[in-house]
Amino acid sequence: MSRFELPVSRRRFVSTAAAAVAAGPWLITPDGAYARIRNGIDTTLPEGVFTLGVASGDPLPDAVVLWTRLAPQPTTGGGMPARPVPVAWEVAEDAGFRRVVRCGVATARPERAHCVHVDVRGLRPDTDYHYRFRTGYQVSPVGRTRTAPAAHARPSRLRFAFASCQDYQGGYYTAYQHLVDEDLAFVAFLGDYIYEGKPNPAAVRQHEGVGEPYTLDEYRNRHARYRTDPGLQAVHAAFPWIVTFDDHEVDNNFADGIPQDPDQQSPDAFRARRAAAFQAYYEHLPLRRSSQPDGPDIQVYRRLRFGTLASLHVLDTRQYRSDQPTTLAAAQDPTLTMTGAKQESWLTEGLQSYGTTWNLLANQVMWAQNDRRAGPAQIFSFDNWDGYRVQRRRLLELFGSGNVANPVILTGDRHCTWVCDLRPDFDDPATPVVGAELTGTSISSGGDPDVAAFHAAYDPIKAESPHWRYIDNRRGYFVCDLDQQRLLSSLRVVDTVWAQTSDVRTAAQFVVEAGRPGIAEVIEGAPPVSAAAAGPIYDVDDDQDSYPLRR
Ligand code: FE
Ligand code: CA
Repeated sequence: MSRFELPVSRRRFVSTAAAAVAAGPWLITPDGAYARIRNGIDTTLPEGVFTLGVASGDPLPDAVVLWTRLAPQPTTGGGMPARPVPVAWEVAEDAGFRRVVRCGVATARPERAHCVHVDVRGLRPDTDYHYRFRTGYQVSPVGRTRTAPAAHARPSRLRFAFASCQDYQGGYYTAYQHLVDEDLAFVAFLGDYIYEGKPNPAAVRQHEGVGEPYTLDEYRNRHARYRTDPGLQAVHAAFPWIVTFDDHEVDNNFADGIPQDPDQQSPDAFRARRAAAFQAYYEHLPLRRSSQPDGPDIQVYRRLRFGTLASLHVLDTRQYRSDQPTTLAAAQDPTLTMTGAKQESWLTEGLQSYGTTWNLLANQVMWAQNDRRAGPAQIFSFDNWDGYRVQRRRLLELFGSGNVANPVILTGDRHCTWVCDLRPDFDDPATPVVGAELTGTSISSGGDPDVAAFHAAYDPIKAESPHWRYIDNRRGYFVCDLDQQRLLSSLRVVDTVWAQTSDVRTAAQFVVEAGRPGIAEVIEGAPPVSAAAAGPIYDVDDDQDSYPLRR
């Protein structure tokens, strides 16, 4: 049976696997002997150490990172004793853990918030595995993960999802309740995993704490708040994730060492804040040790490969960027950089040399020109690539050079769907299309949309922007089905994030054909939902705190 034809839904699969834990043997090694496990049964630990669930990430052909964090009181400091705690882990071929292939003991340390990252090696490529942790008498939920195909294998298909922007206060994660039932090799998360906003009593649900996080403890509590969501936990347990961050994991619209409000945060204070934010980010996500922060720096741009089918170039467009320009003239400054010179060289080289059919970029902010005013006048957000035009043009000309196979950019941030053709000069429709960009919507940020107000504002601009092929502002995620000939991406949208459950449906699909840059076809699905009669006015400014939080 291929991984595309599971016998039961993922949700049932995970819960069945969890039920098997009680009956299954613990730490039986492949040769049938009990592994020597160094942690004796510790009966002094508080109950509920696995409240935050499990996760896996960054799959390689022979390895995957497993994650958990011991935190019985997740939003108030964790609740663990201030001492190292041994945590046993095991990886099996089956959900009942009869065929354990790897096991060991990791140490959860208080200075790392009792998080555990295990980089399991020696696995087989393109294979499903199941994993769990144990400490004392407590056993974690069971996670399922999957390794990447071998570097020179020729997989016929790759199915994955991408998502971004999960403001806890923006709404419930109804989208994740459906994403967990998809059949995926991995989930790419493109930024805004947490939001740093203070608790909002008017929102459908509230952040913990009393204000924005600044300290390490405050960022840990914020991450833990998000990870208490059962839908988010289930998607982490169901698939390996490949994550990158945008601004809200630290501070809205930060650029390198410059915060949103430099008059309020000194360079030293912001440096300490960034270090705290990155430390907590690493502690809560299944990143490899190479991404462990060093003070205020974290190495997150990296490349993953899925046989000869696809490379995934994961970008970091926050940590090395120039400060945002404020005028269109300033945005033409050739010295401005979104990536820094080192990351640009790494990207330029990797795009031309990796030898895969597709080049996918896991990216934060929109590349495609994004005018926000109908008529001849143009208004841009210079936090996007619209603010870094010379570098954008340089990279898009590289896309069109014939040396980059089938580039497709996957983008977050916008809280809307924006499916676009990419051109080196967006103002000149005569210049060639050199690639495609799929800007996903959000999981919850922005709350329930006013579809009519959105289209009233943006349809006239779309008519003037021929590179925009499809726009929409409902919440959801993308599922991508990739083979050697084409990428079929499906936009899944939920009806609401302001109720605890919602239906999901496919709003539209988009085809990119290998060898033909840009969007080959837009397949419209169900008609848009009608806007609520007395809905809020949709704020067209993305990614700010100014949108309505409920009707
Ligand atoms: Fe966002
Ligand atoms: Ca305009």
